[in-house]
Amino acid sequence: MGIKVAKFGGSSLADAEHFRRVKAIIESDPDYCYVVPSAPGKRFSEDEKITDLLYQCHRLVERGKSHEELFKKIADRYTQIAEELELDFDVQGMLLETSDAIRRYKNPDFAASRGEYMNGVMLSKYLGWDFIDAQDVIKFDRQGAFAAEWTNEVLTEALKNHPRAVIPGFYGSYPNGDVHTFSRGGSDISGAIVSRAAKADVYVNWTDVSGFMMADPRIVKNPKVIRELSYAELRELSYMGATVLHEDAIFPVHKAGIPTNIRNTNAPEDPGTMIVMQTRPQEGQSVITGIAGHKNFTLLSIEKAMMNAELGFGRRVLQALEDFGVSFEHLPTGIDTMSVVIADKELVTRKDQIIQRIQQTCQPDSIEISAGIALIATVGHGMSSTPGTAAKLFTALYEAGVNIRMIDQGSSEMNIIVGINIEDFETAMNAIYRAFVKD
Ligand code: ASP
Repeated sequence: MGIKVAKFGGSSLADAEHFRRVKAIIESDPDYCYVVPSAPGKRFSEDEKITDLLYQCHRLVERGKSHEELFKKIADRYTQIAEELELDFDVQGMLLETSDAIRRYKNPDFAASRGEYMNGVMLSKYLGWDFIDAQDVIKFDRQGAFAAEWTNEVLTEALKNHPRAVIPGFYGSYPNGDVHTFSRGGSDISGAIVSRAAKADVYVNWTDVSGFMMADPRIVKNPKVIRELSYAELRELSYMGATVLHEDAIFPVHKAGIPTNIRNTNAPEDPGTMIVMQTRPQEGQSVITGIAGHKNFTLLSIEKAMMNAELGFGRRVLQALEDFGVSFEHLPTGIDTMSVVIADKELVTRKDQIIQRIQQTCQPDSIEISAGIALIATVGHGMSSTPGTAAKLFTALYEAGVNIRMIDQGSSEMNIIVGINIEDFETAMNAIYRAFVKD
């Protein structure tokens, strides 16, 4: 028998009907040993997430106002789920206690964590499984940084006593026991942490899409689902804006060599996307794994004759950025030119000072500033062993009339990043996708 950990996102536990689907999924495979739930999410697009309502409750309490009327909305959601599932425990008692504690503690993290806590209690009752409070087993240090090794020790021990259990996502505690949460969407991280401690064979992350798409479906029509990708490829794609999984959920499972399977609660028959340590080449597979992009970058192009022979030039350029607390994204260089790609939000107030500093310390012949740049990353391990990949990419952009402003290829040969004008973003994404993916 293997061990599987299942994390269910908020939309997968938004109402009683979804609880039923979750139970059916869990009971269909005896390998599922641990379940990590989010708080109930939206049931329809204008609906409210329980976590958002809880933060609002806290804000009322903080301003000395009553949160009771608002909390009633939360209570109604849980009550409805419990009634429809005919759960046999004191739901009203749990809700009253929670509302009271939110008022007494006046702590935003505590308030927000109650969404997962109460959903965890309900799901454990519904499955007939043990409940492990994340407050006891997920540890943060005093500064609020996740304490990975401490948690792993404590959690490994706890899991030994509970062969099957529900452990709420999103929160843990400081050394003094006070509740602390991860950033939003953090139940993905909790699921990965539990997978590591359980030495799971696979971490199954159940959500409302059938896996990672090869491109953003808002830009490319009907993109294919990625069947398999490596953690390294995932990192490249998420960095460029592809989101399905919280970024910090990669580390614990990657470190432990555990694959992650993204699956759809509403279409459990779909195999979803498998994220693995190393991909295996598959027949008929495209050389690229996915495309992702981001807008709003600025390109600083610095030119100076004989730059290549000038000791410390690059360091001085980067020092100017560091001095103003600005981090850069890419650094393509020529013989007498050096370009730095920086996200606009980093530059906002500091652009003029940085330019001035570079003028002073580097005395370049020219500095050209081009705002309105978009970056597109074409990612895939297959690219390094397939001649003609770059040619295909650039031909596609040429044929679509897209002017390339910058090119950067990672030394792993796993990605090619192009900088283009923002206006060409959609055209370029589609051109690259169509060049590599045949319907
Ligand atoms: N419920 C939390 C949020 O809405 C955490 C999660 O869903 O992963 O961000």
